[in-house]
Amino acid sequence: MTRILIVEDEAGLRQGLDINLRLENYETLQASDGEEAIRAFHASTPDLVLLDLMLPKKSGFEVLDHIRRVSKTPVILLTARGQETDKVRGLRGGADDYVTKPFGLQELFARIDAVIRRSENSAATSKSVCEDQLIRLDPGTREAHANQQKLKLSPKEFDLLMYLFRNRERVVPRDELLSRVWNYRVDLNLNSRTVDTHVTRLRRKLQKAVGTDAAVIVAVAKIGYRYLGQSISN
Ligand code: CA
Repeated sequence: MTRILIVEDEAGLRQGLDINLRLENYETLQASDGEEAIRAFHASTPDLVLLDLMLPKKSGFEVLDHIRRVSKTPVILLTARGQETDKVRGLRGGADDYVTKPFGLQELFARIDAVIRRSENSAATSKSVCEDQLIRLDPGTREAHANQQKLKLSPKEFDLLMYLFRNRERVVPRDELLSRVWNYRVDLNLNSRTVDTHVTRLRRKLQKAVGTDAAVIVAVAKIGYRYLGQSISN
């Protein structure tokens, strides 16, 4: 069942949304201010967040920023009429869509459906095999090969290599790896050393399969790592 977190400080609107979403067979959770929203987000891991922007304690922008630092969970903003700059700022900040108050329920349901479908599609493509001349990663079977040799990777090493491969056009910052590969939450005692340790182990395994001089993953000082996927031995 799709779980929706409703973040709205106007009690009437929040409860109205809650009742109507339940009638549409969604599971719902409510938060009435920004801090409660962040707590509820971590406690319940919703599939989608309806997020009002003007909230007590922490603004919707702060909540959105927090959510985007730790997850890709779809967010639909509940914005006030005429606040064009807020919509733009929200979309730039990683929101998936918005509805303008007062909105009709049918419009809201349609937007929820569309946003959820989009996020399911991107989850489906994340199951596709990653392959180049050097490595082959199959997210379905969790098998990894380099130079046609099977690699024995830990689950995190596999996820790390897959994430670097999928983002190989750029250097991936350590913080991003922590949030995307480790699903880093503020309450976990992880730091960038965790990333370094895993990358070191992963590189050792790759180098063994590819050849000692191979630079499959390069470190970029003070930033992070990048998958190169080619040997520089010649
Ligand atoms: Ca409000």
